[in-house]
Amino acid sequence: MNRTLTFIAGFVVIAFPYLLCAQSRMTVRGADDRIKADILVVVAHPDDEAAVTPYLVRAMYDLHKRVVIVYGTHGGSGGNSYGKERAGALADIREIEAREACARLGVKNVWFLDGKDTASQNVLNSLAHWGHGENLERLVQLIRLTRPEIVIASMPGFFIGENHGDHQTTGVLATEAFDLAGNPAAFPEQLAGASPQREVYLENLGAWQPSKLYFYPDANDDKQFAGTGPAYSVLEVSPSQKKPYWRLALDAAMTHLTQYPEDIDRILKLSDPEIEKMMQDPDQGWWTEPETLIFGKSVVGGKSTDDVFANVTAQNPLGAKLGGQESRWEPEQARFVLGGPWGFYEEFLRVHGLTNLPEAKVPEIGIKAGTQLYIPLVIRHEAGEAMRIKTQVEVPAGWKVASGQGEFALPAEVSTDLRVEIDTPAISADELKKAEPQFITVRAESGGKFLGEVKLQVMLRHTALPQ
Ligand SMILES: [Zn+2]
Repeated sequence: MNRTLTFIAGFVVIAFPYLLCAQSRMTVRGADDRIKADILVVVAHPDDEAAVTPYLVRAMYDLHKRVVIVYGTHGGSGGNSYGKERAGALADIREIEAREACARLGVKNVWFLDGKDTASQNVLNSLAHWGHGENLERLVQLIRLTRPEIVIASMPGFFIGENHGDHQTTGVLATEAFDLAGNPAAFPEQLAGASPQREVYLENLGAWQPSKLYFYPDANDDKQFAGTGPAYSVLEVSPSQKKPYWRLALDAAMTHLTQYPEDIDRILKLSDPEIEKMMQDPDQGWWTEPETLIFGKSVVGGKSTDDVFANVTAQNPLGAKLGGQESRWEPEQARFVLGGPWGFYEEFLRVHGLTNLPEAKVPEIGIKAGTQLYIPLVIRHEAGEAMRIKTQVEVPAGWKVASGQGEFALPAEVSTDLRVEIDTPAISADELKKAEPQFITVRAESGGKFLGEVKLQVMLRHTALPQ
């Protein structure tokens, strides 16, 4: 053996155990931080965002908060005072106007629900026409995706003014979504880990409880809401932008040409001092000074008039009492349990009081012999902290663990979904006739401490639906 070969052989012998080790320690990806928001705003139509932009620019430019705007509809049933386009074509234009306004504000993350413009003062007309359930589901999903501490929407209430049913609808949906997004029993399919076979429906989001809910009104008389929440000056100059907050908000609103072209045209012909005089005039200005954000609710305590971010921490306040109902989540206790349909039914039966239904003694499944079995696992973290776990899988002779065994570094989240994948043996039809159920056990530990054990009874069959 020449020297080089000896060296390579030596390297392989020394490095091989190390490589094995490095391979089995896997990092599980956490939620996408680029999408995380501090404030999620829900408005009905393109241009409605302008009602709250003086506060939003303050929060973005001077408090470094990340803002997401969700529009309820595309505004296609509104008027067009600029071009000839109507209906679907107008909806397309108004979406672009909204996106340009958001771009001017510095809001990059913008989504649209599937609401349909409904011109009436009756919120129930709008809820019916929009499709209440589907839009609520979508809003809950966007809250779980963007994980905001603060939610702001139009006020759910009846006051003389524009009093638009669509505006009120965003207040209703935002309130319902605020109460549901942190509840793991609500839209649980959004929270389940992706399944490896055929289905790509499951989103692997986390339950998320926003901390506070605020509203803004579209009433004629804004002054009646003074004292119902924190108030912020619209006329104040932004320390970072050296411009008043109204000016930053106004520049963004100039994109909505289909809605108020004459106003925009008139403003564009004025000098800066003339615009300033107009905006400071209570009869002509676009915004009430100061702007009040009406307090809806808080799960982190505080007074209604406290600053929006008072008491708000980075900790997801899951388990807070909501609408008299306590969340079932127990984030203070690390646990290792079976996920997927088994974990779902455990939660579902308990939440809905169906505790008398029969259950398999050991969770069981029948799958086609020779296909891959996967075992969905859920690890609930202690206080949402990052953790390391080690899993060990026991399988019958002739079965092979393909993945999911070893050491895992889990991200700082309330709960992580993992799965073990096992190759099952291809058995002849004759042998299958006398096959007995087999048992699989997965154990997990963290820092030398036993976390839990999951058992599954598996029957190999000639044929079965995919898992
Ligand atoms: Zn509107």
